[in-house]
Amino acid sequence: MSIELRPLGVACNLACHYCYQNPQRDAGNQRMTYDLEKMKKEAARIGGSFTLFGGEPLLMRFEDLEHLFAWGLETFGSNAIQTNGILIEDRHIDLFRRYKVSVGISLDGPGELNDARWHRGLEKTRQSTAIVENVIERLCREYQAPGLIITLHKGNATADKLPVMTEWLRKLHAIGIKSVRLHLLEVDHDSVRESLSLSARENVQALLAFADVQESLVGMHLDLFEEMEALLSGQDAKVGCTWRACDPYTTEAVQGVEGNGQSSNCGRTNKDGIGFIKADTAGYERYLALYRTPQAENGCAGCRFFLMCKGQCPGTSIAGDWRNRTEHCEEWKHLFTLLERRMILAGKIPLTIQPLRFELERRQLQAWENGKNPSLSRTLSQMYQKQSPESQSTPAEAPIARMKTRVSWVSQAAREKWQARLERLPAVLEEMTVNAADPNTERCAVRVVPASSFPRLLSLAAERGLAAAILPAEALPGGICTQPAEEATGLFLTGSTASVEASQAAWAKGNIAAFQSLLDLPACCLSNGAAAQKTTAPSFLAPLGLSILPITPCRFDCPAAITAGERWLRIAEAAGYESESASLREIFSWAMSWSELHGVIEVKTPLFKMCIDTGRNGAARVIQRPGISQVEGSVTGLNFPYSAPPRQSRMVQIAGVM
Ligand code: SF4
Ligand code: SF4
Repeated sequence: MSIELRPLGVACNLACHYCYQNPQRDAGNQRMTYDLEKMKKEAARIGGSFTLFGGEPLLMRFEDLEHLFAWGLETFGSNAIQTNGILIEDRHIDLFRRYKVSVGISLDGPGELNDARWHRGLEKTRQSTAIVENVIERLCREYQAPGLIITLHKGNATADKLPVMTEWLRKLHAIGIKSVRLHLLEVDHDSVRESLSLSARENVQALLAFADVQESLVGMHLDLFEEMEALLSGQDAKVGCTWRACDPYTTEAVQGVEGNGQSSNCGRTNKDGIGFIKADTAGYERYLALYRTPQAENGCAGCRFFLMCKGQCPGTSIAGDWRNRTEHCEEWKHLFTLLERRMILAGKIPLTIQPLRFELERRQLQAWENGKNPSLSRTLSQMYQKQSPESQSTPAEAPIARMKTRVSWVSQAAREKWQARLERLPAVLEEMTVNAADPNTERCAVRVVPASSFPRLLSLAAERGLAAAILPAEALPGGICTQPAEEATGLFLTGSTASVEASQAAWAKGNIAAFQSLLDLPACCLSNGAAAQKTTAPSFLAPLGLSILPITPCRFDCPAAITAGERWLRIAEAAGYESESASLREIFSWAMSWSELHGVIEVKTPLFKMCIDTGRNGAARVIQRPGISQVEGSVTGLNFPYSAPPRQSRMVQIAGVM
């Protein structure tokens, strides 16, 4: 786990064409201020030493830099920084030495090979590259060798440029560089794909050229190949985050701390340009979905490298949708195949051709369903232990927990204002069912509720002089449960004694038409019920148990559903639930998008996003509903439903912090 302290967010003195943080800049979500105490408090809460990160962290005040490093050394015993290196001066090297700061520098090559790391103009870019090359030499000579991150693209890794790059690596090795991490380009924009993206074949050739040269550079580590071979041996305890089933809602490997002390995820997941705060729990919907989704549909089903690769980094997912596998699948498959062959020739047996792979896959999936993400090496060692006679009594695996909806907020302020309200609403909706029942009609009010709510609702109905009953939840196809994650649910119905008894009798006889005619719901939505999963009108907030009507409407603009919903809200207001009714009116006026891909539903609202795995192999669907109100606390973003940022060029914004 790495704690990334980002005092100035994504603010940077460079404007690299391909930077994965550009969506956040384009969305206008740059923060120029920081609060040292709030950042320290959050870093201390997470625990462990931090890396000062950006954007460019050296843009912060020198005194504040020293303050943070002094605190980091005293609290955690060491410090680290990831920088583009341009601003490093004598005083910084002195600071690094005094406060034990490990330095990481991002540079894509010598001279013109680093041109994609753009600094205002070509001349300035070349000058800056020369400065950084000099800084690297100075650090090696006067302090300690920095680690390097090199991103591969057309500017530095086409066949004609590889000889220059490999020669450069040799020079770096000669001055003491030991650690180099190679990144394949993450493409967030078509213009980047056109100008800089290498083909899969070119990426593979480049990676292999680096692997070749590494063999002659004793002591220099290109982490990638070592990690891939370790993965094929089932030894993944130390591999990088991209191989570890990263959850884009919590990015376990990256614990971001923003300048205002707010938690955040790895910036590679911010495709909307919004730094969402972490969800409360980790989830592995992506990996369950990739495992069951055919490769032709952007999944990984049937791939023998799945345990090692897992669809790779969600930041590199096809079409920028984390539910797809990486767009670099071809490269990884090629390299895994090559390494697999080498291992076999060397007399080793890679995991991919061992029969136990299938049992390992089964266990890994089970762990993900239970919200856990053990390393392969751990699961393997448990399997070996179970095979030994003395461990025959090991207890059975825990039962599979039902998947829960996970929520990630756009800001802590939005969460503080809305989370408790949202959590209270399902119970209010349940109670409203009793209030909505009219003893003078022949129809019952209904709602699908968890078993834990039965006693409370039956007692409420009795207090109001109403009859009530519980039927199986299947009695209301398309019904929306107030607690969707609960296993045991039922259809609560209440009304006059005659209407409840008639409903029970009709259901018992299997007379569905008669049963439905006794429910106080729009007939069109009721008859659509069985097809509700496939209709084009999902209830957007149903994964949270929130729907004014207890059933999925037959269409968004169904007049009967709108009238029924309005009646429910008026009854709620008359029953003393004014503020809850106002909250419901407000929420359902927001713009929202709902999408399903590989059976994983993701809903985005102006204040939060959420996801849940349905386990289905459903068709891909995207539905957007325009809002009718401004949402207080919402942020700007690049995609619907977030409002577009004011038009301002990235360079203008950057000039503002220089
Ligand atoms: S999004 Fe990618 S780079 Fe970021 S933590 Fe996850 S796997 Fe690592
Ligand atoms: S190599 Fe491709 S298909 Fe196989 S697990 Fe990786 S991304 Fe999925």
